[in-house]
Amino acid sequence: MSKTADAVIIGGGVMGCSIQYNLAEMGINKTLLLEKNVLGSGSTSRSQAILRMHYSNEVTARMAWESLKVFQDFHEIIGSTSGYTRTGYLLVVSDEDASAMRENLSMQKELGIDADEITASELSEICPMVTTLENEVYSWEPQSGYADPYSVTTGYARKSRELGCSIEDSMEVRSIDVKGSRVVGVRTDAGLISTDKVVVAAGPWSGPLLKSVGVDLHLKTIRHQVVLLRRPDDLVPEHPCIGDVIHDLSARPDVGGLTMIGVGEEESIGPDKFNQGVDMPVVERAFENMVRRVPGLATSLFRGGWSGLFTTTPDWHPVLDAIEGISGLYVAVGFSGHGFKLSPMVGKAMGEIMTSGHSKTIDVSVLNAKRFVSGGRLKSRYGMQVLA
Ligand SMILES: Cc1cc2nc3c(=O)[nH]c(=O)nc-3n(C[C@H](O)[C@H](O)[C@H](O)COP(=O)(O)OP(=O)(O)OC[C@H]3O[C@@H](n4cnc5c(N)ncnc54)[C@H](O)[C@@H]3O)c2cc1C
Repeated sequence: MSKTADAVIIGGGVMGCSIQYNLAEMGINKTLLLEKNVLGSGSTSRSQAILRMHYSNEVTARMAWESLKVFQDFHEIIGSTSGYTRTGYLLVVSDEDASAMRENLSMQKELGIDADEITASELSEICPMVTTLENEVYSWEPQSGYADPYSVTTGYARKSRELGCSIEDSMEVRSIDVKGSRVVGVRTDAGLISTDKVVVAAGPWSGPLLKSVGVDLHLKTIRHQVVLLRRPDDLVPEHPCIGDVIHDLSARPDVGGLTMIGVGEEESIGPDKFNQGVDMPVVERAFENMVRRVPGLATSLFRGGWSGLFTTTPDWHPVLDAIEGISGLYVAVGFSGHGFKLSPMVGKAMGEIMTSGHSKTIDVSVLNAKRFVSGGRLKSRYGMQVLA
């Protein structure tokens, strides 16, 4: 393993791999990515990987839209598939949230995002398997859908290696070495690696690592459960990705006639010891709520599930920034439950910040590290925070 690098990236999830690839595209390819387990084994492997554009803030809506274009053209850009599958994305909110939804839609439209409010009867035509209820409103994104986190992460990694970058898995960073106010390297079981740039993209493990060099971004890790149902093919051969605020769920189809339902975002828990399975009361709630929205799923089979961790900041938006006071330390952390869809633009923004001091393609400066103390927190128009 090389003992020096132009930059060390800590963490081989989708973010670390996207950052390394984007840096290489910008001419910085003597980089080393260190992953303590295997690529994509953290939150990335647990992701539902839904790609939707609906956000309350321009910065994330823009990032999602530009990232969608990368997922769509991934083969051309990276040379392998992203698993992008166009299903459309349906957002359902109650009448009370109608003005929030409309404000978001009008912001999205100004950005050129393909999204519209639709009526209940239009919804019945587009998605006949979905039930409409009283007092709710709908937004429809025809180009949204989902992609495959494993393919995207390993696709970036393969391309980075082709561009001359190095990746080591089973290699944990034990500490970040700071001398005076500068990063000088990282320590691993294989020794010190010297570098003047370190990016922390360590997902749920980022908090303790950053605290060890005196940086507190108020990160929390929250368990989120994903329930799998096998659909009755004859009744519900397909359905779109669905964000149902009324029933507190997000759902998407998967290969093999499966439906993935994401539920719950309240259990704060440490990253190294948590129940990675699903809880039966949550399974029952997910099933009942899903059937309320797609009644044809009433005879589905329960096919298991898993839990993963959201890494949240106080405003449920990520931090993409250089750390003031420690020259050469960069962070891409706090993606909660909506980071995968942003990952291509996260890599680009971080590459730009590291090479020229600021993001250019999309200005991500509102996602700075200081906002939790300086009063610049982002706000959501909804109570369901993951809709950010
Ligand atoms: C259940 C669930 C559902 C989700 N659904 C969606 C969705 O539908 N759409 C969406 O856009 N997003 C979704 N997300 C969010 C998305 O998956 C995450 O935001 C994204 O995967 C975060 O990627 P990451 O690279 O930051 O973190 P991770 O994937 O956790 O990667 C961090 C990596 O760092 C490694 N690491 C940690 N510490 C060290 C160390 N000291 N040395 C070396 N390596 C280290 C870890 O092993 C890990 O592989 C979901 C997340 C979960 C958990």
